[in-house]
Amino acid sequence: MVDFTLSDPDRDILSGVAEEAKASEKYARHYDAHEDEILPKAFVEAAAFPSLLERMRRRPSDDTPSVIMQMLIRIEREAHNGVPLRQAPSALGNAALGAAGTPAQQKRWGHLMLAMSITEPGAGSDTKAIQTTAVLDGDEWVLNGDKIFVTNGVRCHGTIVWATVSKAAGRGGIKSFLVLKGTPGFELVRKEKKLGIRSSDTAAYAFRDCRIPRDHLIGGDERVPQSADEGSASYKGVLKTFNITRPTVAAGGIGKALGAFRYARDRLAKEGIAVDWDKGPHDRTSTEQTLLELEADIEAATLTVLRAAWLAARGEPNNLEASVAKAKGGELCRSGPQRAMELLGAMSLSHDHPVEQFLRDGRITDIYEGTGQIQRLVIARAILGYSSAELS
Ligand SMILES: Cc1cc2nc3c(=O)[nH]c(=O)nc-3n(C[C@H](O)[C@H](O)[C@H](O)COP(=O)(O)OP(=O)(O)OC[C@H]3O[C@@H](n4cnc5c(N)ncnc54)[C@H](O)[C@@H]3O)c2cc1C
Repeated sequence: MVDFTLSDPDRDILSGVAEEAKASEKYARHYDAHEDEILPKAFVEAAAFPSLLERMRRRPSDDTPSVIMQMLIRIEREAHNGVPLRQAPSALGNAALGAAGTPAQQKRWGHLMLAMSITEPGAGSDTKAIQTTAVLDGDEWVLNGDKIFVTNGVRCHGTIVWATVSKAAGRGGIKSFLVLKGTPGFELVRKEKKLGIRSSDTAAYAFRDCRIPRDHLIGGDERVPQSADEGSASYKGVLKTFNITRPTVAAGGIGKALGAFRYARDRLAKEGIAVDWDKGPHDRTSTEQTLLELEADIEAATLTVLRAAWLAARGEPNNLEASVAKAKGGELCRSGPQRAMELLGAMSLSHDHPVEQFLRDGRITDIYEGTGQIQRLVIARAILGYSSAELS
């Protein structure tokens, strides 16, 4: 039987997360307007709230799988127009380390905050076009190349870098490496200015004859594939990271839509406009119908995220489901706030209300971790049984 009931401790966690996110709302507009500023490690208000790790540690071990709780927490957090009250201890690169690193590497670097450097000026969706190279020279790898749009790239301790060890092997030649801040030849070139998520720092990097120890190759597999076929297994290992990060990103976009929905619903209720559930579809106003549909779409998208997370918690493949969740979340992050704006009218454009920021901050959901179009390609390949060479 499918049971979506949350235990009392889990409900407490979610309401604690909501309170904490609410307490951070007063900072949202400041960091939106001052993108050059980096968030402090912790705001004073953080002291009033236990860390997420602590909250999760207190749960009974047979409770809702923690990966599902992570998704619900992300949705609730993002539904508030706030900023993190304390810096997260980990970033995307940590997920890659967890998915592809050896146990020794995870133990050695797991406590650091690691960003993820895949995208380059000439390689975004098409990762086989990556030009950054890694060449083994004695007991060191030598990295050369440029990376852009690195989330947490300013405040991280280091980054996981995708580089090719054999261009002839296409995607199969791509391996990931850990590069720590302060390594000679590793330069932070600039901090990007963006449409939204301005409190999240995004960096561009340059690697020039950047030498890192041999054992910084994530996973430790030094074999250099001679063809695309030979290397595809190791590339699939690298891609495993996305099976958990894609639902997480989707949860963020759903949260933005939920925040916009709640705001519109509550403002309309103040004016005496609320959904009357007893009315049939022909008697509802268009405003009621829009609110109903938006709420239903948010619920549906949430279910896709929970399904992907549930499979991950059971250790089952979720490549298809992770992309379905990401495609749904990527669509809703735009259409959700937009529908809320239509209901609210001109006031929704004003900075006195959070809906326009929900729209700007949510937009990224459909771009990073694979664009909406790329998710649809992954979904089509999985359903129709095509390889990436057959359908690209
Ligand atoms: C704020 C922000 C943070 C980011 N954080 C990170 C990060 O931490 N690490 C990192 O490595 N990258 C990061 N990125 C980069 C992001 O992952 C890429 O922007 C994304 O993968 C798309 O690549 P691109 O921008 O080069 O677009 P392109 O790949 O050039 O795509 C352009 C358009 O063409 C479409 N398209 C491309 N190929 C196909 C195809 N085969 N079929 C149909 N349509 C296609 C795309 O969907 C898109 O609409 C971030 C980006 C932003 C904006």
